[in-house]
Amino acid sequence: MSPPNRDIQTPDPLGLTADAFALASAHAGLTRGRGGIESYRRFHREGVVPRGTSPAMHELGRQEVEGETTKFTLSLPGGVETESVLIPMRKRDGTVTRTLCVSSQIGCAMGCRFCETAQMGLVRQLPTADIVAQWHAAAHQIGIRPKNIVFMGMGEPTDNLDAVIPAIRVLADHDGPAIAASNISVSTVGNPDGIRRLGELAVEPGFHRLNLAVSLNAPNDAIRAEIMPVDRAWPMDDLMNAMLGWAGRPKSAICVEYVLIPGVNDGVQHCDEVCDYLRPLRCSLNVIPYNPRRDSPWPAPTESSVTTFTERAIANGQFTKRRGTKGRDVMAACGQLGNPEIRNRRRVPDNSPIAVTIQGDRGIADPDRTSTSP
Ligand code: SF4
Repeated sequence: MSPPNRDIQTPDPLGLTADAFALASAHAGLTRGRGGIESYRRFHREGVVPRGTSPAMHELGRQEVEGETTKFTLSLPGGVETESVLIPMRKRDGTVTRTLCVSSQIGCAMGCRFCETAQMGLVRQLPTADIVAQWHAAAHQIGIRPKNIVFMGMGEPTDNLDAVIPAIRVLADHDGPAIAASNISVSTVGNPDGIRRLGELAVEPGFHRLNLAVSLNAPNDAIRAEIMPVDRAWPMDDLMNAMLGWAGRPKSAICVEYVLIPGVNDGVQHCDEVCDYLRPLRCSLNVIPYNPRRDSPWPAPTESSVTTFTERAIANGQFTKRRGTKGRDVMAACGQLGNPEIRNRRRVPDNSPIAVTIQGDRGIADPDRTSTSP
């Protein structure tokens, strides 16, 4: 074998598929024949770092555990960190699998008002290797091999598709993490172009069962624009057209997420409007009780309001699931990721016209300042 070529950048198995890694590894003089594939496989399966490479593995930072849910961070250069959550999924037969919720960015530029991450603003895009590194840390540093991956951590995946799509390819690689595309979900605020680009991946062999999740969170544009500024750029009609054009597996498999926020979007009339909107799609509606972010103007919804909304949607003929809340106490639940110290450095002004006063455990909309009274 020829000596390693030091002028060529060493390939990173976290950022490349097996074929690309093997090619780059041979090009750098590190391996020959099937050696590159074999070292790639050993790296992902056993954690053995290929000779001559230095993958972007980062130091494991904080680990916070609540029940069987674990939130962990990876410390990146520059004093920033990724946040990821391992969530247990108990099957009917009692066995437990883990879903890993990964971050695609540090912070987020989308500004959703119910979300902790939005308070940070966008701090940094994550390259492919730093997304896959979250899986690697779970599997080889924490010692839990996730069965499912959801892109629902910090960041809007469609705002970083140049890194997210290659990360999906690596995660699904048979010689790498080997996570079936059917066990990978990408969640978006509803960027139509992003949905189209993901759809191009979903028509490729091996990816047609990739899951798409869309954060809707409102029955109409007036309410949605108040809690999700992106609605002004991508209104619900455009979003519906993008979902109807989703090229992945049958449209019934699109998961529409609805964070239920007291006094904002939790009325029965809101539920009816949402069901009307979703009727052409025949998707799954996932009702998520709001997890209050730090300094949240809204409390969590009451159990009875979640039940009322969910039962109403089912009565309307909408296939509906209610998502359980896990990890709320360690700020690991949906919409709660984000480092408070970094957030304090990058504060996003909270000046939207929705305001609530808190009464007991319910948020009551201030009728003088909002069009979303309960
Ligand atoms: S909910 Fe998602 S898209 Fe919206 S601000 Fe939070 S991380 Fe970004």
